[in-house]
Amino acid sequence: KVVMDKILWRRSLQLQDQQQAWQESPEGRKMLEFRRSLPAYKEKDAVLAAISQNQVVIISGETGCGKTTQIPQFILESEIESVCGAACSIICTQPRRISAMSVSERIASERGEKLGESVGYKVRLEGIKGRDTHLLFCTTGILLRRLLVDRNLKGVTHVIVDEIHERGMNEDFLLIVLKELLPRRPELRLILMSATLDAELFASYFGRAQIIHIPGFTYPVQTHFLEDILEMTGYRLTPYNQIDDYGQEKMWKMSKQAPRKRKSQIASVVEDALKAADLKFYSHRTWESLSCWNPDCIGFNLIEFLLCNICEKERPGAILVFMTGWDDISSLKDKLQAHPILGDPSRVLLLACHGSMASSEQRLIFDEPEDGVRKIVLATNIAETSITINDVVFVLDCGKAKETSYDALNNTPCLLPSWISKVSAQQRRGRAGRVQPGECYHLYPRCVYDAFAEYQLPEILRTPLQSLCLQIKSLKLGSISEFLSKALQSPELLAVQNAIEYLKIIGALDENENLTVLGRYLTMLPVEPKLGKMLLLGAILNCLDPILTVVSGLSVRDPFLTPFDKKDLAETAKSQFSRDYSDHLALIRAYEGWVDAERDYAGYDYCWMNFLSAQSMKAIDSLRKEFFSLLKDAGLIDANDTSYNTWSYDEHLIRAVICYGLYPGICSIVHTEKSFSLKTMEDGPVLLYSNSVSAREAKIPYPWLVFNEKIKVNSVFLRDSTAVSDSVLLLFGGSMSRGDIDGHIKMLGGYLEFFMKPAVADMYECLRRELDDLIQI
Ligand code: ADP
Ligand code: MG
Repeated sequence: KVVMDKILWRRSLQLQDQQQAWQESPEGRKMLEFRRSLPAYKEKDAVLAAISQNQVVIISGETGCGKTTQIPQFILESEIESVCGAACSIICTQPRRISAMSVSERIASERGEKLGESVGYKVRLEGIKGRDTHLLFCTTGILLRRLLVDRNLKGVTHVIVDEIHERGMNEDFLLIVLKELLPRRPELRLILMSATLDAELFASYFGRAQIIHIPGFTYPVQTHFLEDILEMTGYRLTPYNQIDDYGQEKMWKMSKQAPRKRKSQIASVVEDALKAADLKFYSHRTWESLSCWNPDCIGFNLIEFLLCNICEKERPGAILVFMTGWDDISSLKDKLQAHPILGDPSRVLLLACHGSMASSEQRLIFDEPEDGVRKIVLATNIAETSITINDVVFVLDCGKAKETSYDALNNTPCLLPSWISKVSAQQRRGRAGRVQPGECYHLYPRCVYDAFAEYQLPEILRTPLQSLCLQIKSLKLGSISEFLSKALQSPELLAVQNAIEYLKIIGALDENENLTVLGRYLTMLPVEPKLGKMLLLGAILNCLDPILTVVSGLSVRDPFLTPFDKKDLAETAKSQFSRDYSDHLALIRAYEGWVDAERDYAGYDYCWMNFLSAQSMKAIDSLRKEFFSLLKDAGLIDANDTSYNTWSYDEHLIRAVICYGLYPGICSIVHTEKSFSLKTMEDGPVLLYSNSVSAREAKIPYPWLVFNEKIKVNSVFLRDSTAVSDSVLLLFGGSMSRGDIDGHIKMLGGYLEFFMKPAVADMYECLRRELDDLIQI
């Protein structure tokens, strides 16, 4: 031990000398000056004292005050200065890969080091870390994985959980595990950092914790809502209520006051504005129209109009535009680049800021542009609290956000954009006032803002728990409901039970809540179990390509558009793609057509003619690649051997795989003389969603439908369905694992009895006997 201490001590001195030399160099001095100017620096002593006296410390402070970059460094420096300091091991988690990478790089450069010296990072499939790395940034998922093999976090001295206000599923999950760990490791320190003032909630969760608030300062920001923006164009937008069959809807009236000559030019902006606010293209849902998303409804023309206005008329200052994801950022960027002013590099520096950008691109975001050049950054909600761009004066906020993190243990990717919360909108607005008074343009009306939730519900309370339950099982954390009852805010017991029940039905858990073989495979694929099942079977049965399309299609917004005023035309367009009573097969054909058209650079025209969303098609294209690499990473396919596509043309097989994934979403078709009706076991009579390809058919020559989603309006509507035969349902509905065959029989038998199809039951009996024999063999 004495020798060890001596080595560590020498190492500490070495590190201190290095830092001192760096801080005396001109660049180092400049960097230190910058660090000292951050509000967090003034709290350095208070923070260190709190950490030495308390096991749990919670630090809150305005975005950009220096929490992420400074606090871990304070700890690192003070540990190094202490007697045998170089023994410390600090882990700081970030909700996103990109922040783990960029923050560690920033800290290394603040310290005049290269990444992998005292600071490193680790994210899924990537990382830079050296022998002497004492401060490691990683994603929350990586730390959860480590806890799987190292329950006590041996050797770790400090755990910092950053951005806890985001309340992601992984973070809430991690907090449960850490709370249990703390009594076992009394010397371990836990530091939680948050951009909002919700510290009390966390403090009471941990019983005893010290809270430190870093005071910040922002300049006032002038706020414009959509009404104000439209007034700039000479139009006025006033709401009035109208009652229709489906309940109350908010309709909008526009009064035109525009001077005649600019009318056509302005019309597209106004139309765009309405679309941006989801006020025109929504269907028969009202409040759901806040949660139902139409990506085409981002007002690209409106954004272009505003950006142009600011560039031509306003004072200097960078513009930050909040978009939802990489796909709309890249489309907007293409559009703006073709613009005479916004696309002129001598006037505008156009940058993107999102989760998958290259680090060279990242650095440009922080640089000040040359004089006379205006910086415009198109960002996702990553720029809301994790990345601070200092010179922003104007903010454009589309009001929507989407999470696309596919990180290690993040099992529930939430791919659909939805409206943000009031707190998020305020955060976005605040980005405009960091260096001087700023301006924020919200691209939606005030009444939409008023309908936003106050806070975003924690992910654990708003997303299906199936994947989380699988994860708890794969981490061997005991009983699911007992574990979840210890969460900061526990999900409802019923929701937990439903999830467990679902997992049992699909065969991922056995009767005793243990993972089955299927369950174990599903935990390797960080997607919803239903999608995971399809991917697995698509790979196993060698019909992967179309299944990749279906799974991606189910994860994005419906690519088949039904504009309010052209519903019939749109439905006719969709029916061209279908022959077989399957929305999923129609999607596959539509996508394949798009791929062909894209090859001739005619993808956009193809979409236009067929009422398809080009954006959804692009999103499907990129998701397909992502799902493919998930399967590759999990070792389920070999990218060099294309036999996984041998049966891709076989539509019967594709139907079967879809059935395997969507079970128990099944519905019986009751045929009558002239038409048919539909019935599910839980709801009784149900209807098809109007844009389903089967909705216009007089007959469906199949006994069953499997469906992706049920929506309750005043009746229950089924969305995205495929008709299947008895034998497909018998063979592919439910789990086919040997251990569960009896349960499977019981379950299916129940359905068959319920729907009074005794002939099928007989057939099933036969099949079962044959299957049993087969399995014996
Ligand atoms: P917080 O975590 O409190 O939101 P950060 O520690 O991330 O704040 O950032 C503190 C300051 O450092 C901000 O003003 C930000 O602009 C600056 N900063 C952070 N990362 C970089 C970077 N990679 N390049 C230049 N400046 C950066
Ligand atoms: Mg931060």
